[in-house]
Amino acid sequence: MQSKVKGIHHITAIAGDHQTNVNFYTRLLGLKMVKQTINFDDPQTYHLYYGDSAGNPGTILTFFPWGKNGFKGRRGNGQVTTISFSILSSSFDFWMNRLKEAKVNSLNEVIRFGSRVILFEDPDEIEIEIIADENEARPAWDSKFVPQEHSIRGFHSISLTEISLSDTEQLIVNSLGFTKTLTEDNRTRFTAGNGKPGKIIDIIEAPDSLYGRMGVGAVHHAAFRAEDENAQLNIRFQVINENIEATEVIDRKYFKSIYFREPGNVLFEVATDPPGFLVDEDENELGTSLQLPPWLEPKRNAIEAVLPEISVP
Ligand code: ZN
Repeated sequence: MQSKVKGIHHITAIAGDHQTNVNFYTRLLGLKMVKQTINFDDPQTYHLYYGDSAGNPGTILTFFPWGKNGFKGRRGNGQVTTISFSILSSSFDFWMNRLKEAKVNSLNEVIRFGSRVILFEDPDEIEIEIIADENEARPAWDSKFVPQEHSIRGFHSISLTEISLSDTEQLIVNSLGFTKTLTEDNRTRFTAGNGKPGKIIDIIEAPDSLYGRMGVGAVHHAAFRAEDENAQLNIRFQVINENIEATEVIDRKYFKSIYFREPGNVLFEVATDPPGFLVDEDENELGTSLQLPPWLEPKRNAIEAVLPEISVP
């Protein structure tokens, strides 16, 4: 039987200054730092994870901060160009006012597929949205900086910008199990499972726009949820069946991962839900100290010596 992804697992982007990134996502958006670790492929760079209180899949936004002088990226074709969070409809005014007061960049409001959408940019010019979707049903959680009832519930969706829809559509439908559901202008919506927030990909067809460039302010990849290792292997097989090269399974400590580039050039990952972020810290300790995978623990002193200090509120 075909295995399907369960929705978005995490999204990873490149940030500039470390502390600016921490302050924006914790103090302003109210997310919790759920893991401080390093880029396992580049141990001199932090890997910071934000999410809900328990670090549930579908709430996890992660960053590789390249520092104030990091190479600047550009949003464009072949990338995830917007990260969308989800809130209750009753929280729309709260968030609009909060973002206005914070004077975030490029603040705007649109109606899309019948839902109210707040658009803005983070300090590195990553396009962020907060969408009030009446189908949002994930529980509120106790954020330090935002009243519980208004907490961001997790991702709503990702938007990809592509030269053309058809090849990407074929991959995400045939090998990931998404269904094409709605179209508005040059935006086509695909949903997994029951199609609720957290299980949505929008593809924006923009044949004339420039290709994106990886760097500060660009999204590095999007990861989708596999129920377990068995489902992940099935999905890997389905991807390869579409003539796409996929990596072997890689151990990321908090999940197992495979990576591949979809035909429009966006880097996709399929990550397992288990074991999750509570594997090395309790829920109340999440994100409070630097965690290293066992194979890098012997180098802790050298690693800590080159990482800039960050203060997590
Ligand atoms: Zn990832």
